[in-house]
Amino acid sequence: MRARPPGWWWRCDIFRRMQIGNAVARMKESATLAVSAKAAALKAAGKPVIGFGVGEPDFDTPSPVREAAKRALDANLTRYAPTPGDKAVREAVARKLQQENGIACKGEHVTLTVGAKHAIALTLQTMLNAGDEVILPTPAWVSYRPLIELYGGTCVEVGSTVERGFLLDVAAIERAITPRTRAILLNSPSNPCGVVQPVETLRALFDLLASNPPITVISDEIYEKLVYPEVRAGLGHVSPGADPRLAERTITINGMSKAFAMTGWRVGYVAAPGDGGRFIREAIKLQGQLTNSIPTFIMPAVVEALANGAASVESMRKSFAARAQCTRELLSGIARLRTCAPTGAFYAFPCIKACVGLKSPAGRMIDSAQAFAEALLEESLVALVPGEDFGDCARTNIRISFACAESAIREGIGRLRLFTESLR
Ligand code: PMP
Ligand code: GLU
Repeated sequence: MRARPPGWWWRCDIFRRMQIGNAVARMKESATLAVSAKAAALKAAGKPVIGFGVGEPDFDTPSPVREAAKRALDANLTRYAPTPGDKAVREAVARKLQQENGIACKGEHVTLTVGAKHAIALTLQTMLNAGDEVILPTPAWVSYRPLIELYGGTCVEVGSTVERGFLLDVAAIERAITPRTRAILLNSPSNPCGVVQPVETLRALFDLLASNPPITVISDEIYEKLVYPEVRAGLGHVSPGADPRLAERTITINGMSKAFAMTGWRVGYVAAPGDGGRFIREAIKLQGQLTNSIPTFIMPAVVEALANGAASVESMRKSFAARAQCTRELLSGIARLRTCAPTGAFYAFPCIKACVGLKSPAGRMIDSAQAFAEALLEESLVALVPGEDFGDCARTNIRISFACAESAIREGIGRLRLFTESLR
């Protein structure tokens, strides 16, 4: 053991603390990951917890995709690859964006990242200067605000509510634009709202953005394949990057996690065809200093998934659609919750306002979504994510991830109903 330094000061806690930078010290832990860790710990301790916490498909990655990665490993694709990914995988992503999304894009405009989370982080870090404003329609995924703030940006929330069906408030977005606005971050289908924005709403938003050229559009399309016309007819995914007026300044984010059941593979991507490819080249420069490429042997599996995975994606989508319908029916039978129909992604985001001010059977005061979620987990063993970290307008909402078997949905929402009925 090394000798202790002389003097009295080593005994004082303050001198033994490791330094943490202010930006990270201020940052919140991811609420979605925290709830899933808590639920996993309770399950490991033998408690029959129903996990509506994490947003993760319960399906296996399609077997041809797994086989492609195994073949790549056996072919010793185990060395460094070009930072944005090899030519084949970048071109496969560009082809997908052209054919499925109508985005004019080449392989050179794409970089593969360590999940879509990394794609968002890389985009924001490449773009932001201190004080730049990013408009964030909320409720929005928990990681957007911390990342915007980490890179010096100011997050300007524009809220929506269950009463509006979580539709974007385009007039309020217009009012939020200032000379410092640099970007707007869109996510349809939405986590946590579970809704797809209708084409008319998006058209109104795109008209507004088209007349505000300094604003970059960041479109997180990670749930694009999970749209349920079975729940509401006529809905479909629309990419802002396909609008010729916005194409030059839209950055499209997507990844393999949700549509292909590949959360653990950690594959996302950024596509930015505008400005002669200048943005993506700068992002790749940053990526080269941060992480390099995604694992080399995963690239052929991504090519396989994008080229031949459509049937698997559609079969998983159909299961999610049935679960969305089941979730909607069950939630509509809970008098104290106000819910709108989940039309996309795999979330429902009911409002618990009618429960605030009541007490749980064990005497816990329900004074917030956080308190509701804690009491529900402790007393009824249902894990879900409280709304607070999804935005100021979401303080009395709870997020239910229905990416689990229908039997678990029935049991979990059954417990949720009994819990709300037991509040006094
Ligand atoms: N965007 C949204 C809206 C998400 O819900 C998630 C959660 N997975 C991500 C991005 C990040 O996805 P990935 O697992 O690919 O990092
Ligand atoms: N995005 C998923 C969720 O919201 C996965 C966890 C995370 O990365 O936040 O639950």
